[in-house]
Amino acid sequence: MKIAIIGNGILGMMSARAWLYANPNAEISLIGPSDRPGSATRAAAAMLNSFTELEGDSLKTDLDRFKFDLSRAATAVWPEVFQEICHGSEITYGFGTYVLNNAATDDLDDENFAAVERFCQEYDEPHEIVAPRDIPNYHPDSRHRALKAIYLKREGWVNPKQFLDKLTDTVRSNPNARLIDAQAVTLVSKNGALSHITLDNGETIEADQFILCNGASLTKLLESLKEQLPVQRLFYGVGMSIELQSKDNVHTHCVRTTNRGLACGVYSVPYGKDRTLVGASNYISPWPLNHGHAGSAYTLLKSAMDQINSHFSRASLVNVNVGWRPTTSDTYPLFGRTSLNNLWILGGTKRDGFHLSPIICRDLVSAMSGQDIDPRYSQLAPERKLIRNISREAAIAKAVRHQINASYQHDFVPARNRMVEQLKQSIQFDLETLHDKLGATDWGIPPELVDMYRYGHIPA
Ligand SMILES: Cc1cc2nc3c(=O)[nH]c(=O)nc-3n(C[C@H](O)[C@H](O)[C@H](O)COP(=O)(O)OP(=O)(O)OC[C@H]3O[C@@H](n4cnc5c(N)ncnc54)[C@H](O)[C@@H]3O)c2cc1C
Repeated sequence: MKIAIIGNGILGMMSARAWLYANPNAEISLIGPSDRPGSATRAAAAMLNSFTELEGDSLKTDLDRFKFDLSRAATAVWPEVFQEICHGSEITYGFGTYVLNNAATDDLDDENFAAVERFCQEYDEPHEIVAPRDIPNYHPDSRHRALKAIYLKREGWVNPKQFLDKLTDTVRSNPNARLIDAQAVTLVSKNGALSHITLDNGETIEADQFILCNGASLTKLLESLKEQLPVQRLFYGVGMSIELQSKDNVHTHCVRTTNRGLACGVYSVPYGKDRTLVGASNYISPWPLNHGHAGSAYTLLKSAMDQINSHFSRASLVNVNVGWRPTTSDTYPLFGRTSLNNLWILGGTKRDGFHLSPIICRDLVSAMSGQDIDPRYSQLAPERKLIRNISREAAIAKAVRHQINASYQHDFVPARNRMVEQLKQSIQFDLETLHDKLGATDWGIPPELVDMYRYGHIPA
């Protein structure tokens, strides 16, 4: 069995690992440039968060519950994965996440904080209400201090660069795996299957089965196919994270806010002996951007200093990471076989693909090997119609709340009149007009994709 994997981020590497487990005789070709430009994986925190990613309206549909089941399954397997991959190495990883409830933005945070607690109770997830002052190395500016916090002992993190390097070495050391430092340029089909791919180093790769998992650049590569597959467009969720170095401020746990304002809030994560990573911004773009916005760096650093540790101001700024979160047009991942019967797609994991990787890569390999997997995966089929499971009213209400919340994250200080109310009305009017223009009467635009619809990057 010859398998070609196109893409060398966490999904490509974990799929290779899963194949080598499932079938030690499989011959794996894994294609991707060794410097991994734009890799989301390398810019990630990487937090292994599940409950802490939930918001008030997170688990409203069966599909959302399914995705959450995958996330919980991932939480359960990460300790074993670390045992296997990190054994004997200096990779920074651990467990234990503090979630803050502060007043740096508006009451959307309170709602999402209450949701995290409520869902922990519903699913019996171990959690503990803690006094914020007991959080190790938590030194916020007094006006931004949290009044409440929860500790989740099973939610962890890992330095994704160290982990990916070690995983790459592990896969490379297998005599049946060949890592090819190149980009796939064209996908070539014949008789309803993919026959081969061509690479920018002039090579041609043939295989029995192919996995396409090249992150946010998936759409671009699919365009090289003669027949266009009806796979929805992926966008570049440009995200920035910042590495700080200081012997005095070494964080021992992940400390974060709830999700807020169309993104994951602000967090700090242990990243090495004297390193802490703070993250993360999110700017959805139809095109790849090699650099983040200066304003994102400003907001990130200010938020981290105000809300987590004011001592960060004396740390050295070692590195700014920029990666592209693979973001689908309906915000759900792509998983499964395409109408070219030996081409499988795995991607669109947006902001929790690192965490999900051990489970979704294992299950993809099982499906490729002809085994039964959870039938709910069929909802994520790559050639599905766009999932539109949020009503117009709910989508508009959510977008208004998140846009106002995002404004507070960006230094919004309203006048003491009816300014916030008027702003809400104006955003609401704008969104209703946009929905009308697109004929969106019985469906709603996912709040984070409003501009992709507004500027015609996603057809109604
Ligand atoms: C700032 C930031 C913070 C994040 N934080 C978290 C977090 O805390 N927890 C979490 O779980 N997730 C997090 N994520 C999301 C997570 O990183 C992604 O969901 C996940 O890494 C996606 O993995 P991937 O393998 O699909 O993509 P990528 O990591 O982007 O990998 C794709 C690879 O394919 C290669 N490639 C592209 N085109 C080609 C081609 N034509 N041929 C061959 N190779 C190609 C690229 O060079 C790249 O190396 C974060 C993302 C960002 C940007």
